[in-house]
Amino acid sequence: MAALEIDILPALSDNYIYLLRDVENGTAAVVDPSTAEPVIAALEERGLGLGLILNTHHHHDHIGGNAALKARYGATIIGPRSEISRIPALDRTVGQGDQVSVGGETAAVIETPGHTSGHIAFWFPTSKALFCGDTLFALGCGRLFEGTPAEMWASLLKLRDLPDDTRIYCGHEYTQSNARFALTVEPDNAALAERAERIDATRAQGLPTIPSTIGEEKATNPFLRADVESLKRGIGMPGCSTVTAFAELRGRKDRF
Ligand code: ZN
Ligand code: FE
Repeated sequence: MAALEIDILPALSDNYIYLLRDVENGTAAVVDPSTAEPVIAALEERGLGLGLILNTHHHHDHIGGNAALKARYGATIIGPRSEISRIPALDRTVGQGDQVSVGGETAAVIETPGHTSGHIAFWFPTSKALFCGDTLFALGCGRLFEGTPAEMWASLLKLRDLPDDTRIYCGHEYTQSNARFALTVEPDNAALAERAERIDATRAQGLPTIPSTIGEEKATNPFLRADVESLKRGIGMPGCSTVTAFAELRGRKDRF
């Protein structure tokens, strides 16, 4: 089976919508359509219809285009079970371990509460692609609007456990500012310094820094490194619990 073709559609000020296509049978799906227009333009350009809309969580900048796309294409909307009352017109709700098929490929649903209470991610093992909304960002993680640091850390660990070559398609282009923050936490992390330079070059060309990989994030993203003792020492909290270190990191980033 061929991997899905994945297109990155920039939307609003810093959102990314992802267009997925099984090239063998033409099935298309879209992840987190903040607005309908860029999706319609991309589908028309490629001569495609739209079968599925996948939502990671209820925030408007991830579902704002649902209604218009469903009306135009008759697409089925799939989203988190526990946010059913907060996402209008959901056709199918899913939770941990459920499967979602896009053409010939099946994704596993991973529950990742913390940013919102019902947040989910979609992992496509054959395509080696993870759509993680506002849970894990390149060099960052989402704000804790509806969860505790312990919940978010547990969610991030589920994602960190995926294969290193898994590509990460997150909800926003926050990478450059995340890199600046990460360097304040781990100024001596050579892999991070090198990555930050690459990010600056990519953004200078106006290109997305997405996707990164789980392997890269494990080496450079402070929010996946809250259990690394050298990081705990670096933030002046040697020997503290990992959740305490994670909460400290998230708090510092909120004030950054
Ligand atoms: Zn959000
Ligand atoms: Fe968002």
